[in-house]
Amino acid sequence: MLIQSTTADSTFVLEPGESFSGGLHTHHDQEEVFYVESGTATFEVGVEREEVVVDAGELIRFPPGEFQKGYNDGEATVEGWALGTPGASHDWDELQSRAHCPECDAETTQDVAMGDGRFELTCTECGTTQG
Ligand SMILES: [Zn+2]
Repeated sequence: MLIQSTTADSTFVLEPGESFSGGLHTHHDQEEVFYVESGTATFEVGVEREEVVVDAGELIRFPPGEFQKGYNDGEATVEGWALGTPGASHDWDELQSRAHCPECDAETTQDVAMGDGRFELTCTECGTTQG
């Protein structure tokens, strides 16, 4: 595997009950790999939110465009590292999330933008923006 670049802040520590920042999200042009060094992390994968448990010493890979959400559902601290490739992991222009849209009255795919120090979500179905 050719790793073109890695993020500067690539290690993580999650106490029991904590989750990875970003909620359920995907990157169009980037794959991400998480390695769990200790503890047990749980990931929800895809729009169906299939649950995948990643134990110490295991890797999980998300291809570009795959929705993902991760958290520490166990009793021990989760430690490990993450790689995003290619490019920076926080390219907001390329970030999408899943959230409830009041217009569609359903969970839809949302474009995520950073405005005024807070997230702005724009529904890709109807174009409604919520902050
Ligand atoms: Zn909508």
